[in-house]
Amino acid sequence: MQGYLIYGLPIIKKSDDIASLVKSLFDFQDGDVLCLASTIVAKSEGRFRKLEDYHPSDRAKAIAQNTGKDPRFVQAVLDESADVLLDEPFLLVQTRFGHVGVNAGIDQSNVGADRILLLPEDPTGSAERLRAKLGKDCAVIITDTCGRPFRSGVAGVAIGWAGIAPLRDWRGMRDLHDKVLEITLEAIVDEIAAMANLLMGEAGDGTPAVVFRGLQYPS
Ligand code: GDP
Ligand code: MN
Ligand code: MN
Repeated sequence: MQGYLIYGLPIIKKSDDIASLVKSLFDFQDGDVLCLASTIVAKSEGRFRKLEDYHPSDRAKAIAQNTGKDPRFVQAVLDESADVLLDEPFLLVQTRFGHVGVNAGIDQSNVGADRILLLPEDPTGSAERLRAKLGKDCAVIITDTCGRPFRSGVAGVAIGWAGIAPLRDWRGMRDLHDKVLEITLEAIVDEIAAMANLLMGEAGDGTPAVVFRGLQYPS
């Protein structure tokens, strides 16, 4: 298996064609897995907002008071959420597309001054559209850096995918001692996303796209 960082992508703006950009920098083959940071997908979809666009409700103001956050930022999180699971000491929500994460994945880094960046509205839809434009039979995974319950530190997770099954089913396989596995469903899109996220970096690296070649994955 090989992993490749795609170098040379510009700062992504609204309406940029990410599929064309990555294709101009990398020669895709059937079976490749393209991982893209949600940040650039969101940028291309124009998911920038300004805090002054938000007018905090009483609920947002109360949560802001308890968490020490800007009430306009809290309102942005509430607007992206289908459900609030925890509102202190931090804001853990389920997004409208089903992902559970702190602050609905809204980013303030790698975005530019005075702006916030929402996650893509429908990352699996984004992954499907990108995959259709690659022109090869590839898988696409949209990643985001997230905290994990009961673990220190952040890691990459998959928030949308296409052309790959999210889980590998080990049930019915036999272990070293011939015992049949009964429950193991392996979250392969998250495992791949974590490795991609490790290669991408978090700061000014400028490398939001990673390709894995030679990975065996279920579709
Ligand atoms: P997230 O994990 O999806 O929230 O994305 P990050 O903000 O952690 O960025 C992941 C990687 O993408 C880092 O290497 C960033 O420097 C890079 N990155 C973020 N935005 C852009 C962009 O617009 N253009 C380029 N070339 N790289 C970017
Ligand atoms: Mn993020
Ligand atoms: Mn990140």
